Amino acid sequence: MANGSDSFDVVILGAGNGGYACAFRAAELGMSVALVERDKIGGTCLHRGCIPTKALLHAAELTDEIRHSGDFGILTQEPQVDWGKVLSFKEGVVSQMHKGLQGLVRRHKVTYVEGDGRLADSRTVTVTTGDGERSLRAERGVVLASGSYARDLPFIQADGKRVHNSLYGLQAEDIPSSVIIIGGNYIGLEFASVYRSFGAEVTVLEMLDRIAPAEDADVSKQLQRSLEARGIDFRLGVEVSDAGATEDGVEVRLGGDDGTLTAERLFLAVGRGPNSEGLGYEEAGIELDRGFVVVDKGFRTSVDGVYAIGDLVTVRDYDGVHPQLAHVASLEGIKVAEALAGEDVVPVDYVNIPHVIYSQPEVAAVGLTEQAAKDAGYDVVTARYSFAHLARAVMLGGGEGFVKTVAARDGAVLGVHIVGPRASDLISEAMLITNWEAWPSEVAEIIHPHPTLSEAIGETFLSLAGKPLHG
Ligand SMILES: Cc1cc2nc3c(=O)[nH]c(=O)nc-3n(C[C@H](O)[C@H](O)[C@H](O)COP(=O)(O)OP(=O)(O)OC[C@H]3O[C@@H](n4cnc5c(N)ncnc54)[C@H](O)[C@@H]3O)c2cc1C
Repeated sequence: MANGSDSFDVVILGAGNGGYACAFRAAELGMSVALVERDKIGGTCLHRGCIPTKALLHAAELTDEIRHSGDFGILTQEPQVDWGKVLSFKEGVVSQMHKGLQGLVRRHKVTYVEGDGRLADSRTVTVTTGDGERSLRAERGVVLASGSYARDLPFIQADGKRVHNSLYGLQAEDIPSSVIIIGGNYIGLEFASVYRSFGAEVTVLEMLDRIAPAEDADVSKQLQRSLEARGIDFRLGVEVSDAGATEDGVEVRLGGDDGTLTAERLFLAVGRGPNSEGLGYEEAGIELDRGFVVVDKGFRTSVDGVYAIGDLVTVRDYDGVHPQLAHVASLEGIKVAEALAGEDVVPVDYVNIPHVIYSQPEVAAVGLTEQAAKDAGYDVVTARYSFAHLARAVMLGGGEGFVKTVAARDGAVLGVHIVGPRASDLISEAMLITNWEAWPSEVAEIIHPHPTLSEAIGETFLSLAGKPLHG
């Protein structure tokens, strides 16, 4: 193990999910670790992403439940939202998790270096701290984990006034009466869901011909239908050609003959770019692709001894888009730590990474969509089970949505796609099944507790195994 105050086995630049997971695993494996962070440990996910959005979504869902409690025979009044308290509830969750991570840094004896880091060469990260410059040398490897930022559009930038993005949306002083959201993918849809629950008029603009374009086409369609039923408006296949703040709101111009829209606020959800500029990566000779650090399946960059993980990277030899997800960043961090310890590391199977859209209703999926399975050459069979047939789903509020399972004919389950109540919790079972390449006939033998939402997944396996029960 390396020692000396500024020499470590591993130096990690960025303490988001990727960086801190790498640090903790490397420490567990006996390495000395320096973890450099200019803001707060936990990164985007904890402070500006997954956690605060899900706290808001929970409060939003509660508001709707109260609004509809009369359907269950519970009579209440129209819920009053104290937005300030909603924000402090969200901050409370974040702060509790933040303290937990700070404790883990101490427990793992990771050297936490607060300041702006920069890659000086393949073995050195320099950090501008409150006390001056510090140079950290890595004996085994440097890990770049500097994450991503919310993109703007060329003609309009988020400023926290009339124009928001996820960063500003999480700290906004109020809920607007109306909002136009540019981008119909998961961040745009989650905020659309929150705004609508809290009473805003919401319009989502999407350039493609469907929302949630990475999902199975049937799921996208159902999600749109459900969100429309909640009063969210969608304009698909439209391109925003210009946008700007007006005296009392925003104006958004659409290309062609699609006209102009106005609202109190504009929300940009147009993707996340890599945080790689000005950090010395290019100067150190690291190959970049549109700013993303190019890595191989072992997360090695083009410079020997320098690794990169998380939202920052694009993976050479992987055909799909590298998923910008917290659990992907963590997994990659763990894998790099294990590789640095000399372990044989199995590459990440990106196809079988579960993902969730926490809108209301939720979407969760793992594995191949029906179309992707066909494109990959499989002879595909599918089964779909509606939550409307499931007692538990009906009692929870109407039984909207379904589970759709995609399998190879006489072969393994290839993908499971859920839109409906608590999809985020249901997907874990599917995750095990697709990752273990189980066949429907094998998993159809396993019975689900009744009455639960998980029975919907079981019903699709029963159907695919040729013995449908309620389907
Ligand atoms: C609104 C929103 C909701 C999301 N919801 C989910 C979700 O529900 N589930 C999910 O899986 N993912 C979600 N994500 C994505 C998730 O947040 C990211 O995939 C994850 O944070 C990536 O982790 P990372 O470690 O690669 O980068 P980050 O979390 O971005 O961490 C990078 C860290 O590096 C630090 N850093 C950067 N440059 C320097 C420097 N020069 N010196 C020192 N430190 C530096 C940054 O301050 C930051 O803390 C969401 C994202 C957003 C924006």
